[in-house]
Parts: sequence; structure tokens; C-alpha cells
Amino acid sequence: MIAFNVPPYIGVEEQYIKEAIESHKICGDGTFTKKCNAWIENYTGVSKALLTTSCTHALEMASILSNIEPGDEVIMPSYTFVSTADAFVLRGAKIVFVDIRPDTMNIDDNLIENAITDKTKAIVPVHYAGVACEMDKIMAIAKKHGLLVVEDAAQGVDSKYHGKALGTFGDFGCFSFHETKNLSMGEGGALLIRDKENVERAEIVREKGTNRAKFFRGQIDKYTWVDAGSSYLPSELNAAYLYGQLENIRTIQDSRMDRWNQYYELLKPLENQGIIVLPTIPEGCDHNAHMFYIKAKDLEERTALSAYLKENEITASFHYIPLHSAPAGLKFGRFHGEDVYTTKESERLLRLPMYYGLKEEEVQKVCDTVKAFYGK
Ligand SMILES: *Cc1c(COP(=O)(O)O)cnc(C)c1O
Repeated sequence: MIAFNVPPYIGVEEQYIKEAIESHKICGDGTFTKKCNAWIENYTGVSKALLTTSCTHALEMASILSNIEPGDEVIMPSYTFVSTADAFVLRGAKIVFVDIRPDTMNIDDNLIENAITDKTKAIVPVHYAGVACEMDKIMAIAKKHGLLVVEDAAQGVDSKYHGKALGTFGDFGCFSFHETKNLSMGEGGALLIRDKENVERAEIVREKGTNRAKFFRGQIDKYTWVDAGSSYLPSELNAAYLYGQLENIRTIQDSRMDRWNQYYELLKPLENQGIIVLPTIPEGCDHNAHMFYIKAKDLEERTALSAYLKENEITASFHYIPLHSAPAGLKFGRFHGEDVYTTKESERLLRLPMYYGLKEEEVQKVCDTVKAFYGK
């Protein structure tokens, strides 16, 4: 059986976890967490990065730090993971879903401005498959209307837009290190903070509403409860695992990129014949080989293809029942304009196996099987 995903593992993680244990510091914000934060800041150029317990929690922190209040509207695509919306729904926001563009499956930047009302507080672009949204345009719209931007860059670690790391454009950027993402710590994520003036409150929100971070730096002599907050800091054991991965990012990423390019080359003939559609990487976007998907003609064909792959011991997967048509989406959101692509394109999309350690001959087999399906 060719698995759909295998969590990334390099081999140094065990040693680092052992070091954390032996240092008798396994709660949050120890040596490994600090190393990971610094690594992310260095790598992306963002002013401040804070490891979190998940990307879901990084989004929640961003929502709190954006002062989202009941009745505020937040604009995002409907084709995304539930956490993108949940983070804002928990603060009482109304979600305004905008259609996606079919080439990248990202929010259609041309439709955002029309969805803005006097209640709009934030725009939340999701960089699907690690391929950037049109950030220049989105940032210009946000600036013109005085809106905040929270990037859901859960899938965008190590991706760039015009040479700049995803997650560093908006007021806040959110990374995921879940086991299904390129780099992992089991469960975990990071909040990227663009502006220095938001850092202090972020540290407070992350540490149960206390100014403990300042206390640990010796800037105050006792810490106290200063604001509403929660516990968003991961254990050092998880951070130690992640640090081993960050140090070996090129090994992981180069291998994924080889497999991604191999899929693309081998399946290109099917696209040229008009049988399937492959991902589009627009000018100026450096993607991170997070995902390889193909698009079948429609839902029926995708279902048959997926079943055929399974018969041949290959696990393919699809995702995202559009949020606006889910029970909670109907309750907490509305779709602005017409759903031209969100539902239709989501029903065609099929994700092929992609993980660090996937072998060349396995990609060959997957592509041969896809071709055999269409040759029948
Ligand atoms: C994975 C993912 C999340 C959630 O990440 P967790 O770390 O599992 O909370 C949020 N948004 C998108 C687009 C994702 O792919």
C-alpha cells in the first residue's frame, strides 16, 4: 500500500527530545522553543515568531490580537480547513466567504473588495497547497480600507511570494507543524507577528494573560495577570522534535520537490490531452511542494479514480467540503456573490500521496495507475 501521508522524521529528533528530558525542562518556552522561534524569525525575516500548540491556536491568537468582536465581518475563502473560520467565529465574527480562483484554489483577489462592508475587520487569505495568494493586491485592499490581514499559512512554510516568505505579509501569519504538513512536531504551529508593537500582547495572550515572558527576561520582578489569555505554548518535547526538522529543512524540502516535479512531468501528457488538470504556480510564487493534486472532470470521475487507485493499493485523498454549505457555515457565515468555482472545483480535486520519504518508484506507480485508469 502506498500511504497518503507519513509524518516527517529525520533521525536527530530522538536525540533532541532526550536532551530536553535530561535538561529537566519539558514545559513550554525552554531552550528548544526559543531555538525554533529564532530559527523561524531568521528564516522568514519576520520580527517575531512564537511557537504555538497548533495552527488553529495561532489563528485563535491572531483573532484575539485583532480585537475581533461580535458582529465584525471577516472575509475568507470557503474552500479551506475549518480552523480558518473557527478562530474568528469563537470571537463572535460573521464569516463572509468569497469564491476561489480555479487555477490556484486560492481566494479570488478580484472579488474581495466587493465583499467589504462597514463591519469588515479582517481579510484572511489561505495559501492553499503552499502556493501564495496575490498578496500585493490583498495588502493594498486592506490598506485602502483599514483592514487587518491574517494569513493562514498553515500549508505555506518555506513558500515565497516575490521572494518574501509567506506568513510575513499580513499583520499576523499562522504556520502549522501538524504531522500532515511539510515540517512537523506532531501537533503544533507558530504565530508570526509583523509589527513589533503587537509582540508584547501576543506573549501575554499566549501565557494565560500574564506578563510571564517579560518576567523571565528579567524586565519585571514579579509577574501577574494583566489581560485575558489562554495557554498556547507547546511542550519542549514537541519543540525538540521540530528543531531537528528545521535544521534539516533542505533535506526534507528538496526530496519533496523532486517528487512533486516528477508527478508534474509524468502527468503532464494527460493534461496536454485535456484529460486532467494539474496545479498552476503563478509567476512570482515559489511553492513548497506541500501537496500534489490533480483535477478530474467531475465528482463522478474523481470517485471512480479514487476507488481505482485504492484497488491498486494507492491512497489518494480529497478534502474541504466547502465551509459555506456545512451546517456551521450556514449558521456563522454567508457566501458573498456567486459560488462559481468553490463547490465545482472542490469536487474535482484529488490529492496524491506526498510525504518526505516517498520513493521515486512509488510516484512512478501512482502515475502509471492514473494513466491506466484513463486508458481503460
Ligand atoms: C492544517 C491546516 C490548519 C490547521 O492546522 P493545525 O496545526 O492542525 O491546527 C489550518 N488551516 C489550513 C489551511 C490547514 O491546512
